[in-house]
Amino acid sequence: MEAKPISEILDERKDFIFCKEGDHGNSMKCDSESVSGSVSQRSCVYCGARVVLNPITDAFHIVHGPIGCASYTWDIRGSLSSGEELYRNSFSTDLKEKDVIFGGEKKLAGAIEGIMKNHSPKTIFVYATCIVGVIGDDVEAVCKQAEQKYGIPVIPVMSPGFAGHKSMGYKTACNALMNLIGRTKSPKIKGVNILGDFNLSGEMWIIKNYLNNLGINVVSQITGDAKCEELQKADGASLNIVQCAGSMTYLAKRMEKEMGVPFIKVSFMGIEDTMISLINVANALGDKEIIKRTLAFVEKERANLGNVLEKYRKNLEGKKAAIYVGGGFKAISLIKQFEELGMETVMVGTQTGKKDDYEVIGNLVKPGTVILDDANPYELEKFMNEKGADVLVGGVKERPLAYKLGIAFCDHNHERKHPLAGFEGAVNFAKEINLTINSPVWKYTKVGV
Ligand code: SF4
Repeated sequence: MEAKPISEILDERKDFIFCKEGDHGNSMKCDSESVSGSVSQRSCVYCGARVVLNPITDAFHIVHGPIGCASYTWDIRGSLSSGEELYRNSFSTDLKEKDVIFGGEKKLAGAIEGIMKNHSPKTIFVYATCIVGVIGDDVEAVCKQAEQKYGIPVIPVMSPGFAGHKSMGYKTACNALMNLIGRTKSPKIKGVNILGDFNLSGEMWIIKNYLNNLGINVVSQITGDAKCEELQKADGASLNIVQCAGSMTYLAKRMEKEMGVPFIKVSFMGIEDTMISLINVANALGDKEIIKRTLAFVEKERANLGNVLEKYRKNLEGKKAAIYVGGGFKAISLIKQFEELGMETVMVGTQTGKKDDYEVIGNLVKPGTVILDDANPYELEKFMNEKGADVLVGGVKERPLAYKLGIAFCDHNHERKHPLAGFEGAVNFAKEINLTINSPVWKYTKVGV
């Protein structure tokens, strides 16, 4: 039998990759398990849950599992707080071989007791990791007993890594949030909940400031810079605005069905999407004064920004961009942002995009663009080289890949230090893309080595 060359796209992966030719046909496979043997860039269920819940600043997050799982903590991703710093600590039950044989429930109960004694928390989240799923510790029962004993919410997050992938972790986190939000029925408050911004570099504050300045009250932030008490009022809000649809649509749908809070999808990435989103929020609230104020505000911001972006556009016109990010909403906004800068997107992919995200992406990009779901590093490398990408936008796992290929890189996730949301974020983004693409360093690297 002839050996297959190793640097080839796996047959099982071919359905997840689509090259647009003429009209987009929505034949691509997505939103399913990663292909075995392909090195997925996705993280595990537990990590997905942690992404969503960790930004709750005054909660305690106990990782019930081996110490290694606890390495995925605040330091990996960051998220800013306007007050409490508790969430930056890591607590683990540090399960060892003996616990695997005899069970870890006592150790978990002891960890909760220790935290109660030393820190008097308001809420504890307990993450069940892979080994806990295997040995069958009854985490829910331990949490229930702890709740009765200490009188605070102790919420199990059932997230063994093998139960699926990152998207399943999002769903698990949403269930944990419903557990917290749904404990008491809050009085109705005129205002919105912001769902799906994690305040990695202060984006939540930018969005909140816009809304507050327009006269829109923000009831709770889910979950960037969130506080437990505010989260528990979320069911009283008049509207949910959902940015990271991949992680939060499930929560929004549950809140709509079970608590009567309607939702709309938004994106505060890029000028166009920020303008549209603010107008859509104002329209959904239906307050004439707010609508008037919003229209005036977005027009003023657009006028101010026109000339600022022009200077970057001159340097970037005709350059080619590759995008590989977590969710669909960000990819969609980024394609538009590159267009605003006179650039073309030649490759675009996501870890957890859904069918309707890829439908929108397919309609936005030009023929010849490669669209991929749940890509691996080889595929990213292959298509970036084939398409001649000048820059890759991604997260912490894509940075070394871009630099090894001699391609400029923009971090749109864990490691960035300046916000990329809202109108100021659009300027920061243009500035960073200009700096990285036009850096003199690329003259001294050999592309493809
Ligand atoms: S895959 Fe399992 S063992 Fe690995 S980090 Fe996730 S929960 Fe922990």
